Amino acid sequence: MKRKPKLGQNFLVDDSARHAIVDALGDLSKRTVIEIGPGHGAITDILAGRCHKLIALELDRALAAELTFRFRDHPQVQILECDVLETDLRALVPAGETADVIGNLPYYITSDILLQLFAAGKVGTLARAVLMMQREVAERVSAAPGVRDYGLLSATAQMNAQVDNLFTLPPSAFSPPPDVYSTVLRLHFAPRFAELGVDPDGFNIFLRHSFAQKRKTLQNNLRAAGHSAEQLSAAWPRSIPVQARAESIALESMAELYRSLSIPPM
Ligand code: SAM
Repeated sequence: MKRKPKLGQNFLVDDSARHAIVDALGDLSKRTVIEIGPGHGAITDILAGRCHKLIALELDRALAAELTFRFRDHPQVQILECDVLETDLRALVPAGETADVIGNLPYYITSDILLQLFAAGKVGTLARAVLMMQREVAERVSAAPGVRDYGLLSATAQMNAQVDNLFTLPPSAFSPPPDVYSTVLRLHFAPRFAELGVDPDGFNIFLRHSFAQKRKTLQNNLRAAGHSAEQLSAAWPRSIPVQARAESIALESMAELYRSLSIPPM
């Protein structure tokens, strides 16, 4: 198989894994599915026979052409030669419907793809996603507060989706084998901003400030972002220890702090 390493091309060759990835989305007979990076079609071949509509987004011209030819007699399968990050996912899904996403992701843009999917989940375009990514990134996405891997990516992901860690594959499941282990996550998009009483844009900025420097306490990170000591002590909720780092704090408490900091002083 020809391969463009720059495009993150490690093709899945483990037959039971490619079935397990599609099985993780359950009954797809009435669903529109968007596949990111179909490659030679390891997942696409199974999906095509199972879902109502499949839209596969592939950047590599030769691979997109290969799949367009292979699926020429499958009107429910659409292969788009495009960069997923430049594609408006909302425009692919009929108004009033949701789609699911599947993909053995190109690892070099995993975080950007996740942010793109969260944005689409927030406006109701997406319901679920099953995604393969580098194991270390999956551990960060799914870590709970207080666990070593918890950080900005975890908080952002968990404000936007429920995350299930499904299974991990060794490098030998791919050709050529990558240097890392890979993990499949399932996301149910379920934004928590309204439930926690925070506006999404403001809270996302607050999270970025809170996690800006891992070794600093939350208070010091917020001081560095321009909050005064007086403002912080007036707003500080009991649920957060004064010396805590953002990495140890539940999202409910972070939202409580954000809400009380957002109330202008009397
Ligand atoms: N789905 C196939 C499989 O499991 O064997 C291929 C997975 S491979 C890890 C990632 C795929 O994403 C490659 O086919 C690569 O060409 C494609 N890709 C890389 N960057 C992309 C981008 N920005 N937009 C769409 N596809 C991209």
